[in-house]
Amino acid sequence: MKLALTFLFSFYLIFSPPLTVLWEKITGATKQKVEKSSLTYTSQKLPRIAIAGLAIESSTFSPALTQEAAFQAKYGAAVYTAYPFMSPDSSLRKRAIWIPTIVGKSLPGGAVTREAYESLVRKTLDSLKKNGPYDGLFFDIHGAMSVVGLDDPEGDFISRIREVIGKEVLVSTSMDLHGNVSWRLAQNTDLITCYRMAPHEDAMQTKKRAVENLLARLESGKGKPAYKAWIPIPILLPGEKTSTRIEPAKTIYQAVAPTAAQPGIVDAAIWVGYAWADEPRNHAVVMVTGDDQNKVKQAAEQLAKSFWNARSGFSFVAPTGTLKESLDKAIASNKHPYFISDSGDNPTAGGAGDVTWTLREILARPEFKTDNGPSLIYASIPGPNLVKKAIAAGVGNQVDGEAGAQVDARFAPPVRLAGKVEAIEYGDKNAETEVVVKVGSVHVIVTQKRKPYHKEIDFTRLGLNPRKSDIVVVKIGYLEPELYAMRADWLLALTPGGVDQNLERLPYRRIKRPMFPLDKNFKEPDLSAKMVPLANK
Ligand SMILES: [Zn+2]
Repeated sequence: MKLALTFLFSFYLIFSPPLTVLWEKITGATKQKVEKSSLTYTSQKLPRIAIAGLAIESSTFSPALTQEAAFQAKYGAAVYTAYPFMSPDSSLRKRAIWIPTIVGKSLPGGAVTREAYESLVRKTLDSLKKNGPYDGLFFDIHGAMSVVGLDDPEGDFISRIREVIGKEVLVSTSMDLHGNVSWRLAQNTDLITCYRMAPHEDAMQTKKRAVENLLARLESGKGKPAYKAWIPIPILLPGEKTSTRIEPAKTIYQAVAPTAAQPGIVDAAIWVGYAWADEPRNHAVVMVTGDDQNKVKQAAEQLAKSFWNARSGFSFVAPTGTLKESLDKAIASNKHPYFISDSGDNPTAGGAGDVTWTLREILARPEFKTDNGPSLIYASIPGPNLVKKAIAAGVGNQVDGEAGAQVDARFAPPVRLAGKVEAIEYGDKNAETEVVVKVGSVHVIVTQKRKPYHKEIDFTRLGLNPRKSDIVVVKIGYLEPELYAMRADWLLALTPGGVDQNLERLPYRRIKRPMFPLDKNFKEPDLSAKMVPLANK
């Protein structure tokens, strides 16, 4: 009897959890009911957390303008799809009553129109008004949005959100390290963090950390960290000089995680800032948040000092050259594929993406005039009219038309492409339709709308093989991981465009001066921590 009981009990211990799972699997509807009732039961205890945010980096040195549609805004429950860690069965999802409002993410571009910004902000505020009150807000932004006629849009946005949700709500802000942190943004947020890697391989991890820290502070009842240290650093560098794959950014950023892990500190972050917008807030910043005032202050000052002391060590992630030098070297090289970054019009930094200057120069070179010249893939140029003509002609047939320079024609007019249609692909989220036109030995990717080419599949789905190509020219800055892994050699060509890598060519008027490296020989800046007042003080 005793044995039988023990056996039954063991059986129960071993099998009860899988049985529960099995039960839930069999009765999906019942599971929903259980969840619903447990939600009702625990709703007194679970914090109510809203999700909102807009992400774009937009250049004020580009003639392009960004409209509302570019943000591809997600509303309500669709917001969860932006965060794999918030899937329905994730543990994070169960730790709060989430109120997703609007999250919009645009490809980088030109300044956002005031109408587009106001419309998205109004929709966010309306949604927040309808669904309050809140214990927390996950504020998911990039931090380098420029809006026509408005300074510091992210600071404006969070201030207007505060008017709706109040000062007591715990706001956790997640940013790109190329974002800017104004005093106003720092004051209106309670927890703040940014990526620690460039390229941003830790983007999702960062957003998750912002959410986890927010939950931990709410669940423990600790609420707002008592101290926020903010240190502006008078340095403004292009992202292509601050990759965390190489020194000195590598060492500087490696110190961030251990700093954040110290007792008394909640999080630590370093922003490189955004070089292609002309506002007083554009420069590097360090922030540390926590409950131990001395540690917060010291940690922030240490990170700021390490950045400042390393300032002379920042250089481009790859050897640079003029386009002519880059092409000469690539043609003469025996290393293939030889990558060339057409960096001045990098659409993922804020370039219009339709500058034709580089493509015109390539097509003018005698080496590429014939079919059997060095094979070169050019990614890419928007040309909706040419796409239409290519579709009418069909794959395998000749097409003749113009592409590019609809947005940014400052450096060259539209480029004429006369050649064979090699591929037509439909349905890309950004490009919509893509065609490949072969002109001489150059395979030109022409798109309906602009699109960054960062992954191998972006090429192979068009029937192109970048690994077998002699030269691959991409509108990009530092190479994204898959292209970086594939390169036999690489040059960053300092080409013209809205995100010119040569900052000294940019007509800054409003950034703070002096600013390294634009100004030389200035006195040691004040890198002492400025303690930001709490949002409710
Ligand atoms: Zn970035």
